[in-house]
Amino acid sequence: MPLLYVASSNPGKIAEFSLGISLWLEQGAQSLNWIVEPVPGIGSLPPCVEGEKSFAANAQKKALHYSRLVGGLVLGDDSGLEVAALGGAPGVLSRRFAGPHATDAENNARLIEEMTGVPAAKRGAQFVCVLALARGGKMLAQFRGEARGIILESPRGAGGFGYDPLFLAPGSNQTFAAFSPEEKLQRSHRGQALRAMLEWLAEQSLSEGRES
Ligand code: IMP
Repeated sequence: MPLLYVASSNPGKIAEFSLGISLWLEQGAQSLNWIVEPVPGIGSLPPCVEGEKSFAANAQKKALHYSRLVGGLVLGDDSGLEVAALGGAPGVLSRRFAGPHATDAENNARLIEEMTGVPAAKRGAQFVCVLALARGGKMLAQFRGEARGIILESPRGAGGFGYDPLFLAPGSNQTFAAFSPEEKLQRSHRGQALRAMLEWLAEQSLSEGRES
């Protein structure tokens, strides 16, 4: 079965990518199955320092860095929230919006504060996800997904992570935090990018990336 190495040791991310693959396999989106695992030994490899100015640059940097250190197909990703009323912030600083070691709750509190007094019509935002695929230090392709929504004045919903409880999905009257993982993947920036990547992988028949 083909193997995809994710340039992350975050078990939530690995689980989300695996769920997306099984979800779209069920829907017959493509014929290949993929096993998703962290880059082998990622904890003891030299780390990749992010800090680029765009999601795409960060995703590519991670994919290239780890694909130089291990064989096989390596997936780098970066994602975050862009709020129009804040000039696109927090953007690539989404994880560290309230400080270098900020929790999700602290980041959400800062977002609520920054959005105080912003009228309903100007509370539009988008989540962005970029996935980059590399092998042997060479970029193969990248995929971008976007999900538009509205920033609420207070959190709603108990699931998800990050800014999900403040992100109202259009037409649903629910935040991303109220969706099941499957529902969220159907609508999310990460789900869109992942789907595009899987379709591309199926088309490419990257035979050297398959391990049976
Ligand atoms: P990273 O891709 O792990 O670097 O994610 C950056 C940050 O963006 C996360 O820590 C969250 O704050 C935010 N973020 C990215 N994707 C999502 C999402 O699907 N829901 C909520 N927050 C997200």
